[in-house]
Amino acid sequence: KQTQRLDKILAHVGVGSRSELKRLAKEGAIYVNGVKVKDSGMQVKPESDIITVHGEIVKYREFVYLMMNKPQGVVSATEDNRDRTVVDLLDAEYVPFEVFPVGRLDKDTEGFLLLTNDGKLAHNLLSPRKHVPKTYFAKVEWEVNEADREAFAQGVTLDDGYETLPGILNILATGNASLGVPSEIELTIMEGKFHQVKRMFQAIGKQVVYLKRISMGPLALDPTLALGQVRELSEEELQALQ
Ligand code: URA
Repeated sequence: KQTQRLDKILAHVGVGSRSELKRLAKEGAIYVNGVKVKDSGMQVKPESDIITVHGEIVKYREFVYLMMNKPQGVVSATEDNRDRTVVDLLDAEYVPFEVFPVGRLDKDTEGFLLLTNDGKLAHNLLSPRKHVPKTYFAKVEWEVNEADREAFAQGVTLDDGYETLPGILNILATGNASLGVPSEIELTIMEGKFHQVKRMFQAIGKQVVYLKRISMGPLALDPTLALGQVRELSEEELQALQ
């Protein structure tokens, strides 16, 4: 879109509601290209016009892309009747963008979650035909072995009869039931069926007791992000997704 209503743009980036923007214009607080705005509904070119509110330049953008280290206990949704959602964890500055999670992690799964309001990008990443790889770290009871690695490399049959694509299993540490020590593994899968990682282990008679997603496509979880923390994707990360 070449031009848009000024109040719509300013509301989108969180400056205020339409009625607040009307008042700000009336007070003489908004300028476009150095000219005081009288009508907050005027048409502007968001990509090129310089808009200031109370003397500060408003940085316009349509889309935001956020990486979250999702903690346990929150659901990957924008609304929920019972539980807190990942969107509830966001800073107020991101709320006007109306972001949503790209795909889902279980309530008890941690780690990499992308949130955006870019529906096209989300659609591309989630498209089953694209086979975007997702890698998970898991603790599994108990011993995960070479035979399991081979089984996953063939694909396994889930409880509903679905045959998975091959998964790449990397055994980091072998567990021991009598010591009560779970195995530690990484598993890369190319699809995203409901509870897929847990159900793949269930298919070989083993139980996932901790699950964390560590990467999705070209993006890896930033190790400096604490649980519940969020940061915007870098230019390079965003480029890698296109
Ligand atoms: N597989 C699962 O079982 N759970 C998740 O949250 C993600 C993948």
